Amino acid sequence: MKVIDHIKQAKDTLVSFEILPPLKGKTISSIYDHLDPLMAFKPSFINVTYHRSETMFKKKADGTFEKVEVRKRPGTVGICAAIMNHYQVDAVPHLICGGFAKRETEDALIDLHFLGVDNVLVLRGDAAKNEASFEPEPDGHQYAIDLLKQVANLNHGIYIEEDIKNGGKTNFCIGVAGYPEKHFEAPNLDTDRMYLKAKVDAGAEYITTQMFFDNQKYFDFVKTCRDQGINVPIIPGLKPITNKKQLSMLPKVFHVDLPTDLSDAILKCKNDAEVEQVGTEWLLQQSRELKKAGVPVLHYYTLGKPKVIENVVRQIF
Ligand code: FAD
Repeated sequence: MKVIDHIKQAKDTLVSFEILPPLKGKTISSIYDHLDPLMAFKPSFINVTYHRSETMFKKKADGTFEKVEVRKRPGTVGICAAIMNHYQVDAVPHLICGGFAKRETEDALIDLHFLGVDNVLVLRGDAAKNEASFEPEPDGHQYAIDLLKQVANLNHGIYIEEDIKNGGKTNFCIGVAGYPEKHFEAPNLDTDRMYLKAKVDAGAEYITTQMFFDNQKYFDFVKTCRDQGINVPIIPGLKPITNKKQLSMLPKVFHVDLPTDLSDAILKCKNDAEVEQVGTEWLLQQSRELKKAGVPVLHYYTLGKPKVIENVVRQIF
């Protein structure tokens, strides 16, 4: 079932989770071990992130280096199919522009359609680790909206292969990313929202936000989106803080601010067990307030911390 239909049919706030594919070498049981405790909360859908390959230099016996492309976390499509089959719950694969040519994207979409997956979250992806800024593949997409248009075309039976006439139509519900604190490359919030509106006008049916730690930023974002004519559901993305390193890592990697009350409380902690307590309580308060405000879904980035999410969700749902 499509994410948008889950939201339309819901009488109350729904819950959903997001997971990363395991590192190459681990099996599907690591996904089940991670998800099993969370399934008691009957998530409406589970997102599976996508990770592009990285360029690495491997030292050879003669001392020279060989350039190799390594995908550390493959398997998004397969994991989605496994989740749907194992738990009978909808899966939402993330699809990115980075590292993909349009034809590869088309093949991935065909695979997803054959597997009965009817949701995708389309994203641009970040720059490769060896690039200063995002570079599309020679025959790839520059922005998420370009990838979105490819999915929307396939929903109309329009394939990259121009000689396919009367092609079978896919039926993907398309979600996109939104940034309550602005995407880090955007010159300002207004411009960022203008591009977000373009994604919605091109067919995005809902928005999932980047994590935030101050609910007011989400409420302000929703209001300005509505003022600008963006009327699709806006799903808040939530992440727990569980260690002190995140005080500098989260702003650096995700370009988000931590409220002073939260950073002060974390700084006072003697160890990461205490940080986890503070982070859990903060996430609980955020979740309570958002649910009270009637958000469509509480979407939790579980990212290796299912226990914390379990503790919070148990008190909310
Ligand atoms: P876009 O919408 O393309 O926007 C990128 C930047 O370009 C923004 O600054 C925007 O303002 C600007 N822009 C947009 N359109 C135009 C245009 N036409 N002309 C000029 N400028 C424009 N990354 C992964 O690699 N894998 C994942 O699984 C993943 N999942 C994510 C899930 C969520 C909910 C979120 C919020 C992010 C996720 N990311 C993921 C990270 C994401 O790929 C990065 O944040 C990326 O830098 C931007 O992606 P986007 O889809 O928002 O890009």
